[in-house]
Amino acid sequence: MAASTVVGREAVAPTILRVSDVEVVYKKSILAVRGLSLEVGEGSIVVLLGANGAGKTTVLKAISNLLGAESGHVTRGSIEYRGKVVTHADPADLVRDGLAQVLEGRRCFAHLSVEENLVMGDSATRRTRSDLKAEIERMYVLFPRLRDLRRRSAGFLSGGEQQMLAIARVLVSRPKLVLLDEPSMGLAPQMVEEVFESVRELNQRSGVSFLVAEQNAAVALAYAHHAYIVENGRVPRGGTAAELLAEDDFHALYLGGSADDRERAAVARPRRPEFTLRG
Ligand code: ATP
Repeated sequence: MAASTVVGREAVAPTILRVSDVEVVYKKSILAVRGLSLEVGEGSIVVLLGANGAGKTTVLKAISNLLGAESGHVTRGSIEYRGKVVTHADPADLVRDGLAQVLEGRRCFAHLSVEENLVMGDSATRRTRSDLKAEIERMYVLFPRLRDLRRRSAGFLSGGEQQMLAIARVLVSRPKLVLLDEPSMGLAPQMVEEVFESVRELNQRSGVSFLVAEQNAAVALAYAHHAYIVENGRVPRGGTAAELLAEDDFHALYLGGSADDRERAAVARPRRPEFTLRG
């Protein structure tokens, strides 16, 4: 791990991911992301907030180079992961190098059991049998409910359980950075909290960094060290939860939900205050 740098009196986390001035075009004509820049500090949870169609998923797929299947291309800018330019890297190499993505919609193999899904998570790393067994055991310790469900077909799990499984499956490859797309989608509020609690636990226990695309700003801000707003394929602003919440129009624009939601976000206190990321 690179040493932290110090700016003024604040320690700044070393950067694990840097997206600089990236532009993405689908089908040679649809400009989905334009001049977008962001950073993720090592060991931090960063969220991308934004409405439907803002460009969040496109950014995540650009980072893990999964746009090709949809005729999407990064046409400008650069993406650096762990100090290396990976703008057009092979997605499987990225996984082997610790960059993993949980796609939107918690895509599990519905007809396979929970445990078989976890085994599939190892396809890029290919451990020995005993290492893989130990890794799956680690997942059951992190997500005890999955142990109870290990023989059940993934298609019969609840939405929240499928989200846990989707996260556990990528964790089997021992990632350093996880890109998580809309984990709250379609989940009951309590399940959303549970999913974010496991993200926080993984972050604190294992130092895994997260870049989370999320529409539920209230919950996401309660867990994030840093957040960026995505609008029309750009990032017009970013900051800590406290900084964003202090902005005049932020509540009206992004926390239109209940008073409970606003209160939850307002008391948001990231638990790694030693990391202050550049906005
Ligand atoms: P959501 O929360 O609805 O997934 P998002 O913020 O993740 O939204 P994207 O899915 O990245 O947004 O979409 C950004 C823009 O790119 C939108 O205008 C969308 O219509 C367009 N887009 C996304 N995928 C494709 C595709 N495969 N082909 C063409 N245009 C696309």
